[in-house]
Amino acid sequence: MDKNWKIETLAVQGGYEPGNGDPRIVPIAQSTTFKYDDAQSVADLFDLKAPGFFYTRLANPTVDVFERKVAAMEKGVAAVALSSGQAANAFALMNIARCGDHVLAGSALYGGTVSLFTNTLKKNGITVTTVLPSATEEEIEKAILPNTKAVFLESLANPALNVADFELYAKVAHRHGIPLVVDNTFPTPILCNPFDFGADIVTHSTTKYMDGHATSVGGIVVEKGDFNWANGNFPEFTEPDESYHGLIYTRDFAASPYSVKLRVQLVRDYGMPMMPFNAFLTNLGLETLHLRMERHCANALAMAEFLSKHPKVSWVNYPGLPDNPQYPLVKKYLKGASGVLCFGVKGGSAAGERVMNALKIAAIVVHVADVRTCVLHPASMTHRQLSDAELVAAGVSPDLIRLSVGIENIDDLIADFDQALNQA
Ligand SMILES: *Cc1c(COP(=O)(O)O)cnc(C)c1O
Repeated sequence: MDKNWKIETLAVQGGYEPGNGDPRIVPIAQSTTFKYDDAQSVADLFDLKAPGFFYTRLANPTVDVFERKVAAMEKGVAAVALSSGQAANAFALMNIARCGDHVLAGSALYGGTVSLFTNTLKKNGITVTTVLPSATEEEIEKAILPNTKAVFLESLANPALNVADFELYAKVAHRHGIPLVVDNTFPTPILCNPFDFGADIVTHSTTKYMDGHATSVGGIVVEKGDFNWANGNFPEFTEPDESYHGLIYTRDFAASPYSVKLRVQLVRDYGMPMMPFNAFLTNLGLETLHLRMERHCANALAMAEFLSKHPKVSWVNYPGLPDNPQYPLVKKYLKGASGVLCFGVKGGSAAGERVMNALKIAAIVVHVADVRTCVLHPASMTHRQLSDAELVAAGVSPDLIRLSVGIENIDDLIADFDQALNQA
């Protein structure tokens, strides 16, 4: 793999270099374990003295290809693939913050991330507070506490569709010697590379566009590679890890200390690795990601324009529409606004529900960002566990319908929404 390849070439061929006579397609190493000729080889692997595979919880050849490809597409140095996007966000932060620490987040967040922050991380002693995505530099600065260890954002929030002003958040985070972590699920590296704008760690729910076919739940954490973990704020990176005979991550794995630590501490102890068959399927998805994202964006823009003019529609939120308040940030950070848009129907939630029920091509499913058009009502589904105040903070109004525009023919899709709206 050549680091100078453009992203489309990386999407198709990155991460896997078959030798003479090897399978052209990345093979599925559906094996929990690997065979060695002598005990010392295995001991060296356990001590992290030699690279290699010994148990699929920690690393697997198929998953390794997937990790290399995504790392290259995000312009990072290393990545760790996990069993879900939830695992990716949890580990991305737990690798930096521990009991007694604080994380600052932009408040427009996926429902699962809100509950991770307000329940499980909190129970484990990591507190998360939020600022509005539109916060000014001063407001972000004021929200940083002496024990803040990371700033967390969604690049294109699910489902509020706010675009994070990365550079502003990165500037404040770096002034305090802490990293910026960005969940880049919706744009994918095709539409946005957060590392270009100051992010230090990128996460994905690969369940969404990366897979793209709704076959595999997965997640990944990518490390940019130039954050200074030895600045005094992160003793776990610079002090000996007694669980590895005194290994020091910044010294012994200087190129990617964050990824190595995440894998050998968190994946070792909590598990949640990506499985080889899921890595195989998600890698197939990556091979067409650049083509699919183009069509998702084009179809969503046409759908947003159609809905904006429809007499039964009360509002449309698609950041790719020039009159959308997020549009300047889309122009600054993204190459397209993805296939997800939100709208409300005149008559509120009840009318919206009738429209969802009347759709024939678009289905009601708890999913987003795959080839098939689908709709979901976050307030009664993905964000159901949130309080009213949390819903407002996450950018979810009661009548909001989240529409994930697929790559079917746009005329068919518009006709479907037209007939469904006319029954509202
Ligand atoms: C879906 C999603 C997640 C959670 O990912 P899972 O793969 O469902 O665990 C996290 N962040 C965002 C932005 C998502 O859309």
